[in-house]
Amino acid sequence: MQLSSVENFHKRKEADLVVIPFWQTEKGVKLAGEKNPFESFYAHALKSGDFKGKEGEICALYPTKEKEDRLLLLGLGKEKECSSEVLRKAYAHVTKFCKNKKLKSLNLSFPDMKHSAAESSLEGVLLANYAFDYLKASKEDPSVLLEKISLIGISAEEFTACKRREKIIEAVHFARDLVNGNADDVTPQMLSKTAKQLEKEFSSVKTTVFDKKRIEKEKLGLLLAVSQGSKVDPAFIIVEYKGKPGSSDKIAIVGKGVTYDTGGLNLKPTGSMETMKDDMSGAAAVLGTIKAIASLGLKVNVVGVIPSTENSIGPDSYKPGDVYKSYEGTTVEISNTDAEGRLVLADALAYVQKHYAPKRIIDLATLTGGIIIALGEEVSGLFSNDDKLAKDLIEAGQTTHERVWRLPVYPEYKEGLKSKIADIRNSADRKASSITGAMFLLHFIKDVPWAHLDIAGTAFLSSAKDYHPTNATGVGVRLLTEYLSSN
Ligand SMILES: [Zn+2]
Repeated sequence: MQLSSVENFHKRKEADLVVIPFWQTEKGVKLAGEKNPFESFYAHALKSGDFKGKEGEICALYPTKEKEDRLLLLGLGKEKECSSEVLRKAYAHVTKFCKNKKLKSLNLSFPDMKHSAAESSLEGVLLANYAFDYLKASKEDPSVLLEKISLIGISAEEFTACKRREKIIEAVHFARDLVNGNADDVTPQMLSKTAKQLEKEFSSVKTTVFDKKRIEKEKLGLLLAVSQGSKVDPAFIIVEYKGKPGSSDKIAIVGKGVTYDTGGLNLKPTGSMETMKDDMSGAAAVLGTIKAIASLGLKVNVVGVIPSTENSIGPDSYKPGDVYKSYEGTTVEISNTDAEGRLVLADALAYVQKHYAPKRIIDLATLTGGIIIALGEEVSGLFSNDDKLAKDLIEAGQTTHERVWRLPVYPEYKEGLKSKIADIRNSADRKASSITGAMFLLHFIKDVPWAHLDIAGTAFLSSAKDYHPTNATGVGVRLLTEYLSSN
């Protein structure tokens, strides 16, 4: 993306489209941005009453003898009700218009209001400026994305903030690509290679990958158990980002990297398996976050850990009823092979505590179908043993609109995980299944603030929504980047 800024309308260059925002008022519409040279041109359109300035409403006009062939009036709704999220959603309509018309360059103006208006508006444009169609062989109707955006009338500080926002969205797209890719392509080895590329790209990043042999040597027993039925080897990926080299403080972010989940011998039925390439969305969020914070140069130390494997069926599959020993030492009875995410995470959580002593741990996982029943696709589930960490994540969720909702981790919920033949079992009955999943993870947390984000509902959408395309959303990247920027 070529992003630039100009002081005012007169200094703008040629582009395919120019955008002028409007408020909706009792009497009609009101210009939301600074004065522009088109007023006499669109006055007639406004007079007609056809364009009401409603949130996300657009009206295209075709001026002659201007630097752009098209002018888009964009409605932002009522000024009093405007927020960062309203701007993201409204400006995403600009991108949809450009995609439809296959436009590549844009002159963008913003409302003169607080709420980091330019940043949020640009964020909406950029989040929607995404396509995943490389698997289409047909070259008919190819996606065309915006390549050039010029921001009109913003200060140097605002422009710097916009450039930072652009870097974060690039990392969101990077995470979306990983999740959307074929499961046969996005294997544990491919995730390892991607993590290695981050090391090449940023001198502040160091990547270590354990292959199957090393995983066996380290006795990451639950990760090994889950991987038994798969043709592809597991990988245990550690990506360290050092933004504060003088300090030994670090925050761990751990992402579930199950590159395909058949459910294992407790096989998922038709209708439940088709989206399961998304079961490494936690891993994608971790890699995306490392990419974002490294490109921003955040002054923080982060260690990202990804336990990665397929959960497949085969003659060597791990078995319901068998007991496997975790890295931490706890023995686990497998009551359901489809509750594999918590197994691989348990080993990763234990490993990172033992070897990195992080001051906080946040894990992200498409962990349970239960969270989709509880919260739908709107909000991720949050589980934590620490009120401050929970509060900070909720705040970061509100800022980014990657919202999280806290559910309890009361000890009573652990009852269902009791086993008669092992220390614990991996799955209880259906009641409060997202919470019991979290309770299993909590079993492996020693004395450290921990938060678990269940992103099963928010990582992958059944249909496009606002600035998110169908399928992968890249959830977690903006949330964690915001959290790490302010904590
Ligand atoms: Zn599963």
